[in-house]
Amino acid sequence: MPRNSRIQGLRDHTPDERLDLVAEGAGIAAEALAALRPDAGLSIAQADHLVENVVGVIAVPVGVATNFTIDGEDRLVPMATEEPSVVAAASNAARIARVHGGFRTSSSGDVMIAQIQILDAVDPHAARLRVLEARDELLALANELDPILVSFGGGARDIDVRILPTRVGTQVIVHLHVDVRDAMGANAVNTMAEAIAPRIAEIAGSRTLLRILTNKADQRITRARAVFDADLLGGAQVVADIVAASAFAEADPYRAATHNKGIMNGITAVVLATGNDTRAVEAGCHSHAARSGRYSALSQFEQDADGNLVGTIEVPLAVGLVGGATKAHPTAQAGVTLLGVETARELAAVIASVGLAQNLAACRALAAEGIQRGHMTLHARTIAASAGATVDEIGAVAARIVADRRIRVEYAREVLDELRATSA
Ligand code: NAD
Repeated sequence: MPRNSRIQGLRDHTPDERLDLVAEGAGIAAEALAALRPDAGLSIAQADHLVENVVGVIAVPVGVATNFTIDGEDRLVPMATEEPSVVAAASNAARIARVHGGFRTSSSGDVMIAQIQILDAVDPHAARLRVLEARDELLALANELDPILVSFGGGARDIDVRILPTRVGTQVIVHLHVDVRDAMGANAVNTMAEAIAPRIAEIAGSRTLLRILTNKADQRITRARAVFDADLLGGAQVVADIVAASAFAEADPYRAATHNKGIMNGITAVVLATGNDTRAVEAGCHSHAARSGRYSALSQFEQDADGNLVGTIEVPLAVGLVGGATKAHPTAQAGVTLLGVETARELAAVIASVGLAQNLAACRALAAEGIQRGHMTLHARTIAASAGATVDEIGAVAARIVADRRIRVEYAREVLDELRATSA
């Protein structure tokens, strides 16, 4: 059954009803998503196998973003985030892109790089060439270590060698390029790097020190593009203003940091919901944002020939579906099942698209009405809860503090006291 991500009025339902509706939209049985419920999610025994000294687990809400069409496929996207308005904003932006076919993506491939650091080479330039001459031998040695990866069509692909002047002398840095297919790849490439390092030391006639992947995953780039309808955005002026906001972020690192934070609101939420390594992806994205030597925006917005807004994003995304917590965490598994992605590349396509959607929503809110109106209305529920409102009281307290435009905990407490006094 084809998936349908266009679920209108999802927010008007209870969490239980929503779970049924998204399962139906994803064309799967609701039971496949059971682990999204806190009582059926990660058990303490399972957590104990994931990290050390386990004493508990922390719950983060998982919302589902609607309206996404990515490379012609509808996707309902699980997003793990504690920040209000992120899921609603992504869904809204995806709706504005949907009328023009949604998001289109491409990938540079699934190649991760491990670095092997050579110290004290007496003849660094000659050592570099000796290592390059041994390319085939080194690749074969690396591939012997991971027959499973090779059987899935992956494996070590290439070697390059850089000469790096440092403040403690010249170092020679070997890069091992590995196609990691559907793995995030850190363990896979680290194992290979450690295994080939002794032979590299022999060839270089010196010693090796660090042997680990780089999170600057610039051979694992995902690009996404979407056309956002000018009328649905609010007209030509809004389009022009978003273009101006984008140009600001491209030119100014102070603005770029916040522009990219908006992108990461979407990216990190999907990375977390699928059990992937949020820090690895964040390190990759920010290093990519600084690739020109000056920190800049990860996305751009332009006006297209029809007067619509076209958004583009390019990000390194080291995410996987095998290994890591993705396989071991039941809630992450439910997130992957909901998405219906079958390869790491499809997952990365979703993540880049959500990043672009999130970014569009933030730029539009900032350029059109200022961020606070929409954000604070949703944030009011968190404020009401912080003031001590129970689940039954949150709605009334939030509505009142929004209406009075005083979205602060002290005022929420006053409103709550009043509410309790009148209903007592
Ligand atoms: P992994 O070693 O658990 O899984 C990868 C292995 O799965 C491959 O080596 C291969 O043998 C096998 N495999 C089976 N089917 C495959 C397929 N279809 N495609 C590819 N491989 C397949 O995990 P990993 O992805 O190598 O490492 C991810 C973990 O490493 C994450 O938990 C991450 O947090 C952690 N880590 C990260 C860093 C860092 O980012 N700097 C450093 C160290 C560890």
